Amino acid sequence: MMRNLVAGNWKSNKSFNESKDWLNEIKQHLQSLPENVKVMVAAPAPYLAALAEVKPEGLLLASQTVSATGSGAYTGEFTAEMLKGCGVDFALIGHSERRSMYGESDEIVVDKIQQCLDSNVGVVLCCGESLEIRDAGTHTEFISAQLDSACSNLESIDTRSFVIAYEPIWAIGTGRTASAQQAAEMHDFIRNWATQKFGKDTASKLSILYGGSCKPSNAEELFANENVDGGLIGGASLKVNDFIQIVAAAK
Ligand code: PEP
Repeated sequence: MMRNLVAGNWKSNKSFNESKDWLNEIKQHLQSLPENVKVMVAAPAPYLAALAEVKPEGLLLASQTVSATGSGAYTGEFTAEMLKGCGVDFALIGHSERRSMYGESDEIVVDKIQQCLDSNVGVVLCCGESLEIRDAGTHTEFISAQLDSACSNLESIDTRSFVIAYEPIWAIGTGRTASAQQAAEMHDFIRNWATQKFGKDTASKLSILYGGSCKPSNAEELFANENVDGGLIGGASLKVNDFIQIVAAAK
């Protein structure tokens, strides 16, 4: 079973040269990686084609977003097919920053997933509740509705190219992490959701990542639960040294 995955998300950070340095630096660490852990990085879109050419073997390359449409008159957008052609393996879909700042609605998420599936680009589907919803105690209902909606057109998934990231919005970039118990509760819930939706066999192979101020000092505790398969790491992915410690906690 290969559920363990740690994915970095650089967001809009790093110069092009810094991005290549990061790849160079992580190369040595990847060679000594436990065999059951995969590593991914979501880089800024303008760098992807070049990074795909120089990335070390075994590193999965992701885009931080993707167009909801195919090719055509959509100025500024880049399609899943283009990503595939550039050697990109995955795309993040529904990240809370895209949902809240760029209008990525549940309907758009559905379309983006379809575009990726049509072009053989893997999907990291992000879900997560706001602080308001968490405080109201309706977070499990919210997450199941969000996932139901995102996956409304899907009858099955290939777990080698479909990953779910649970990212409570109140924990992203805030330094406030979900407790290991809060993460465990939600990850158990999402595994159950996946079992209902796709069946036990598929659900048992699905990678469910935790995201939200995960760092070297809390990764081991967060990943201790059997249903937390790794993390989606923002701030702490910028330095290889921090990131690799989180990767080491995921085995
Ligand atoms: C993210 O952007 O997915 C994320 C989890 O960010 P951070 O680790 O900085 O909270």
